[in-house]
Amino acid sequence: MIGAGHAGLAISRVLTERSIDHALIERGEVANSWRCERWDSLRLLTPNWQSGLPGYPYSGGDPDGFMTMPELIGHITNFAAASAAPVRTHTTVTSVRRVDGGYRVATDQGEIGCRCVVLASGAANVPRVPQLRQAVPERIECFTPFDYHNAERLPAGGALVVGASATGVQLADEIHCSGRPVTLAVGEHVRLPRNYRGRDVLWWMEHAGVWNQRYDEIDDLDRARGLPSPQLVGTPEHGTLDLNVLSGAGVEIVGRLAAIRDGRALFSGGLRNQFALADLKMQRLLDTFDQWARESAPGVEAEPQRFEPTHAPAAPRLGLDLRSGEIRSIVWATGFRPEYRWLEVPVLDRKGELRHDGGVIVDAPGMYAIGLPVLRRRKSTFILGAEDDARDLVAHLAHYLADGGRTG
Ligand SMILES: Cc1cc2nc3c(=O)[nH]c(=O)nc-3n(C[C@H](O)[C@H](O)[C@H](O)COP(=O)(O)OP(=O)(O)OC[C@H]3O[C@@H](n4cnc5c(N)ncnc54)[C@H](O)[C@@H]3O)c2cc1C
Repeated sequence: MIGAGHAGLAISRVLTERSIDHALIERGEVANSWRCERWDSLRLLTPNWQSGLPGYPYSGGDPDGFMTMPELIGHITNFAAASAAPVRTHTTVTSVRRVDGGYRVATDQGEIGCRCVVLASGAANVPRVPQLRQAVPERIECFTPFDYHNAERLPAGGALVVGASATGVQLADEIHCSGRPVTLAVGEHVRLPRNYRGRDVLWWMEHAGVWNQRYDEIDDLDRARGLPSPQLVGTPEHGTLDLNVLSGAGVEIVGRLAAIRDGRALFSGGLRNQFALADLKMQRLLDTFDQWARESAPGVEAEPQRFEPTHAPAAPRLGLDLRSGEIRSIVWATGFRPEYRWLEVPVLDRKGELRHDGGVIVDAPGMYAIGLPVLRRRKSTFILGAEDDARDLVAHLAHYLADGGRTG
């Protein structure tokens, strides 16, 4: 198994429950991504009660709170210890090849032969940065969420944040609070209120069944897998962080960054459409919650709520001269992607994405993946989603082993 994040550890726990011998290879420490690839102030946007792992529910005193990074690292490390997970830390997988009877995994500490391989190496190994980054004038400093640590490390002056999903809205807010003028370029996004009818919105996602929807019940799976993360933040105040909150605080909202030409950033004019679409989708989701509450949860007493539409700026700027000195830094909050350079088995599609059926790599029998968006359920990429996926995949893997490798 490759990767000792929560997903790899969840699989390891379930393998141990079934007495299936395995090793977990990790290039850093347990919970490496949370230790090395996140910014200082980040808290989970999922409430603590959604951080349970197989046989290891959240047991702290603040189920509705949101973990800081040190708290989460402690939680995952304690889970690894409680599971006695066989982790080999500081061991980097450099290649995985198919051989007779299974796979050969080369690491910087030697080779391992195995019948099955589970790729739990993460969905967010590399920040996605668009090609137009190359056209940014040299004097502007660029950051990704991996090298942004806190606003104080940015140069003084204006910042352009590109992307308005969870990362983008959180960093725009933090940079704005540091006193720097912030321009936020907004493309497709998913708007959500933090609270709905007196409960956390993710309580609704879980209980109304939205997060449990299976991958093979979703009409447009590619689209579901490519959806941006929701505009949510986990704070002690449990506040909403949508575009109305940001623009009300003074963040300038502009359209999607479409091009940089001769030092000029050009923004799309389709802001109103983006807002209308995100508002409509949020509305539909709230309708789903209301229907579920009517039919299945009469105990929810608070009345349905509706929220103001996203306010479009009267005349959003369509261009910004990046040589004028107004913008001193750009933060690319444009998403993440997995990285499989070491995978020498032909299981990637033209876009470099894994071809799999609910985490079962059909073209490579005995190979599995976990932790990817909407892998088997809408909740798959979240901590909460690991247990069900791990149990399904280990059931398949156990059958494959018992069957002498004949199961497809
Ligand atoms: C900014 C951000 C915020 C998020 N917030 C939340 C949240 O609030 N709630 C939530 O539930 N989810 C959240 N997620 C989603 C998800 O929980 C994380 O992406 C999580 O880290 C995924 O767990 P994982 O175990 O699949 O991958 P990872 O935690 O990334 O673990 C993969 C492990 O594999 C190791 N690895 C990779 N390549 C190799 C190699 N070649 N050799 C050896 N080891 C290797 C890595 O070092 C890493 O430790 C967030 C994600 C991001 C990016």
